[in-house]
Amino acid sequence: MGYLVEPLCPLCGMRDSLMHRVWFCAHPDVVHARNELVETEMLARARENFLDPFWTTGIFQHPAEDPRFSLPPVSDGIELRDASGHLVDDINLVNFNFPVVASDGSLKRTGNIDLDRAAWAAVFADEHLKIQCILT
Ligand SMILES: [Zn+2]
Repeated sequence: MGYLVEPLCPLCGMRDSLMHRVWFCAHPDVVHARNELVETEMLARARENFLDPFWTTGIFQHPAEDPRFSLPPVSDGIELRDASGHLVDDINLVNFNFPVVASDGSLKRTGNIDLDRAAWAAVFADEHLKIQCILT
């Protein structure tokens, strides 16, 4: 049971859907309105990728989950880097006695991918705010 829905577009008679109405309907009034708003290249991209919900919802895959993008991997552990960004293997070689320590709490694993991508966790700087070491 449910609502009976007319499966055909009331304007052109083709199979109806949101995708059809926005990107495919060939009724002259729709074509005119679409041409006023959308460039030819975008129309072609939408029609080529008509299964992508982006074209009807505006929702897109998070770049970190999209295999077309290559984001740096999330580190599995703590890394210590010197002021030049070089990895320091021996923590005993690092002096943490600097007057300025700035931290970025977003390094915590929150379950939200946007909050898990911190570039650094803590930065130690001298009295001139020159970075001396980075804890990531
Ligand atoms: Zn139509």
